[in-house]
Amino acid sequence: SDSTAKEPPMHIVHIAVEMAPIAKVGGLGDVVTSLSRAIQDLGHKVEVIFPKYDCLNLSNVKDLHCRQSFTWGGTEIKVWFGKVEGISVYFLEPQNGMFWVGCVYGKNDESRFGFFCHSALEFLLQSGSSPDIIHCHDWSSAPVAWLYKQQYVHNGLPNGRVVFTIHNLEFGVHHIGKAMAHCDKATTVSYTYSKEVSGHGSIAPHYFKFHGIRNGIDSDIWDPYNDNFIPVHYTSENVVEGKSSAKRALQEKLGLHQTDSPLVGIISRLTAQKGIHLIKHAIYRTLERNGQVVLLGSAPDHRIQGDFSNLAAKLHGEFDGRVKLCLTYDEPLSHLIYAGADFILVPSIFEPCGLTQLTAMRYGSIPIVRKTGGIYIFLTSP
Ligand code: ADP
Repeated sequence: SDSTAKEPPMHIVHIAVEMAPIAKVGGLGDVVTSLSRAIQDLGHKVEVIFPKYDCLNLSNVKDLHCRQSFTWGGTEIKVWFGKVEGISVYFLEPQNGMFWVGCVYGKNDESRFGFFCHSALEFLLQSGSSPDIIHCHDWSSAPVAWLYKQQYVHNGLPNGRVVFTIHNLEFGVHHIGKAMAHCDKATTVSYTYSKEVSGHGSIAPHYFKFHGIRNGIDSDIWDPYNDNFIPVHYTSENVVEGKSSAKRALQEKLGLHQTDSPLVGIISRLTAQKGIHLIKHAIYRTLERNGQVVLLGSAPDHRIQGDFSNLAAKLHGEFDGRVKLCLTYDEPLSHLIYAGADFILVPSIFEPCGLTQLTAMRYGSIPIVRKTGGIYIFLTSP
């Protein structure tokens, strides 16, 4: 990668609650890692401050060790340090057990993440770090924006500018509005989405400092030529061989017939945003036309998860060997599907950027998408 910075190197600190591959729920986790790596490659100093969840995937943290501890908010907070995909990460572990709850989301999130944001700024202050840019993401680390401007600018951290990125305006809009008012710059993850939300009450008054910048995927992390989860490595030179062997491996793994008929892959959180009714419709249409379908997805909502379990039982019976619904989160399987599918379906109702269609193209699968948000590219957009 090109390591000649065009500007003088800056010190950039991300404060975030998801990071691939150690604690990823959706695209936010991918972007914290890939953006950090891309900016570091330009010659800047990039660090991430992150909660030390008990459910971290520690096998992807190098040289993890406890560095120090400090006291804030009535508890001792241990500070661990380690490298994730080459990025320096400080893990905060409050000894009150706030992050020992077995999940990223789903347990008093607002108060846990509020505490985390405040302690992250306190950590910067107490450790004498003074970054040029503090970058926070979505509602979960939005409090950084106003805590910083209201308390820390006057209290020992005067040099920083706050960048706030909206990955999805659906969640925690009250926090997002407030962070929009306090940040120096706000971004969102595609130009199209920035236009779509421009009239929104939390965005409109701050539109002058709001920019849509399309996400990318990390082409080293998502690389069919260097991917441990697929049988034959490939580039455009041997794409037919690479994809057909991945398809066979996928069919074998999931108990599907070994056939050349088109295989449609779906890799998605199962929520209304992702177009659940369209996903179901497409599964039936594909099967009617003699295609195969593999769905990898999980639903945060128990009713939707139950609904898909019923659908899976029905389809596995009715179309044995032609369809498999895997209702779980499985990173290695996602790689095999991206490689082995002919088509990847992304029928989102709205989609700020969407990474699945980009990853699909990286693996030579054809994305089928709705015309919305970041999955729809204006040919003239910046
Ligand atoms: P969102 O952030 O709204 O979930 P994105 O398209 O931005 O949507 O990002 C989704 C990311 O999560 C992609 O990297 C996709 O491969 C991954 N993903 C989604 N569901 C699963 C799953 N069940 N197992 C593995 N990876 C998944």
